[in-house]
Amino acid sequence: MAQDFDYDLLIIGGGINGCGIARDAAGRGLRVGLAEMDDLASATSSASTKLFHGGLRYLEYFEVRLVREALIERETLLRAMPHISWPMRFVLPYHKDMRFESATPTSKLLGFVMPWMKGRRPAWLIRLGLFMYDHLGGRKILPATATLDLRRAPEGGPLQDRFEKAYEYSDCWVEDSRLVVLNARDAVARGADIMVRTKVTGAKRHSDHWTVTLSDQQSGAMRDVSAKMIVNAAGPWVGDVLNGTLGLNSREGVRLVRGSHIVVPKLYEHDKCYFFQGEDGRIIFAIPYEGDFTLIGTTDADHSDPSQVPSCTIEEQDYLCAFASKYFKAPVTRDQIVWTYSGVRPLYDDGAENASALTRDYTLKLDDAAAPLLNIFGGKITTYRRLAESALRKIATQFEGLKGEWTAGVPMPGGNFPVDGVDALIADLQRDYPFLEAAWAKRLVRAYGTDARVILGDAKNAADLGEAFGAGLSAAELDWLRSHEFARTGQDVLWRRSKLGLRLSAEQAARVDAYMQA
Ligand SMILES: Cc1cc2nc3c(=O)[nH]c(=O)nc-3n(C[C@H](O)[C@H](O)[C@H](O)COP(=O)(O)OP(=O)(O)OC[C@H]3O[C@@H](n4cnc5c(N)ncnc54)[C@H](O)[C@@H]3O)c2cc1C
Repeated sequence: MAQDFDYDLLIIGGGINGCGIARDAAGRGLRVGLAEMDDLASATSSASTKLFHGGLRYLEYFEVRLVREALIERETLLRAMPHISWPMRFVLPYHKDMRFESATPTSKLLGFVMPWMKGRRPAWLIRLGLFMYDHLGGRKILPATATLDLRRAPEGGPLQDRFEKAYEYSDCWVEDSRLVVLNARDAVARGADIMVRTKVTGAKRHSDHWTVTLSDQQSGAMRDVSAKMIVNAAGPWVGDVLNGTLGLNSREGVRLVRGSHIVVPKLYEHDKCYFFQGEDGRIIFAIPYEGDFTLIGTTDADHSDPSQVPSCTIEEQDYLCAFASKYFKAPVTRDQIVWTYSGVRPLYDDGAENASALTRDYTLKLDDAAAPLLNIFGGKITTYRRLAESALRKIATQFEGLKGEWTAGVPMPGGNFPVDGVDALIADLQRDYPFLEAAWAKRLVRAYGTDARVILGDAKNAADLGEAFGAGLSAAELDWLRSHEFARTGQDVLWRRSKLGLRLSAEQAARVDAYMQA
């Protein structure tokens, strides 16, 4: 559309919001450039709890629109990416001592009309919340809420005997960092330029366009590009970009709230998650993870500076272990932890006192005083596609004749198969590539879907895939990740394109890194 400029849209930030907008905009015919200063999904978008969820607890904040939008969206997303996303059941054990966070509007209301509850969450309220969760909209694939008798159900086995009853409801799992990369791949297929290890270090605003300075983080080379418009999707850095890089004086900002997770060897055998409510009113999840592990999180702690890399503190590790140990029969201890990760939620600062109470909704602010700038605040993995649609609606007036919404129902790369088709895809892959063991075939299908065949090509045996790095990781896969998925380092491969970092030794990981950087 912009004949005179390099790009119609220059997007700052290759997290889920930047890549989601890039895909949507490129599919509508806009010339899109996206600059990511590190790896795709290197910040918040690889550090989430990895759920496409309506956000059951946000109902207590009366965020009904956000919950409804997210509930409807879950299944739209699930259908478009049945390889990297799948349904999960959540078991919510009930105990009469479960408390609200004192700041939620619901707890305040209940404190007023039922003061004798002293902040406890009554069972009928949980049932009401789950009833709304089932019926607010969009649930066609996922099963409805059920009640479990924990004294008999297998889900009661790992839990302490004091839990006799639980509610069970549905949400979906998603491989967050792979979701980002698949959006970037699809954006490229539709004409976008995705530039990784490229930092936006400055920008000059003109009346009808921007000159943007890009700095290659590996070579140090600088260059200028022109763009009709900028989208600031820098996540935790959105305020720094606005006030620093772009040199605008804005009061808009985000509150950075750190959330940490711990990973421990598998705590139980079944494939459901637990949703634990604490006596402090907070909630945590315990989720089956990568076959052999359990993921436990998250915390909520203010984080002052985006440039300070978030990490899970000893206090956070102890908090999560102690929280989970109030539910599981066998205590969870710090020495069981095999990995931790932390991310910073860039929440739109709406002035709430307490971190958990800040809105999880997104806010888009268009500044069209001169060449336009769209700033993205907040958002969730679950709402990224809708956020991209809203962003495109906001900027449509800048691009005459812009095509309409198109992303709902369009499969992500490798996701062009039925929602319940994973087992058939694994079986087909093993039939055609008999050297693949079950776990290897499953990993490839879960990561790449129908593209697994493209990576395996005409290999007749494992040796045809080149050097083996351990846990089924081959040179052929690394070549694919470099040429199709923007991976440059061992870290990119082992912690974002996959989670093979959990399985490879330090020596194997070093070999992967050397291969990637060669
Ligand atoms: C602990 C935790 C759990 C969560 N769980 C869930 C969940 O289960 N479900 C859910 O739906 N949501 C969840 N979320 C929310 C979700 O992860 C975030 O809202 C989302 O990832 C934010 O994406 P983003 O693209 O805005 O930011 P980011 O992913 O942080 O991306 C911003 C990118 O901008 C880049 N950047 C910054 N400055 C520049 C610059 N000058 N030049 C170039 N690049 C730049 C950064 O390197 C970064 O990669 C969770 C968040 C956290 C922290």
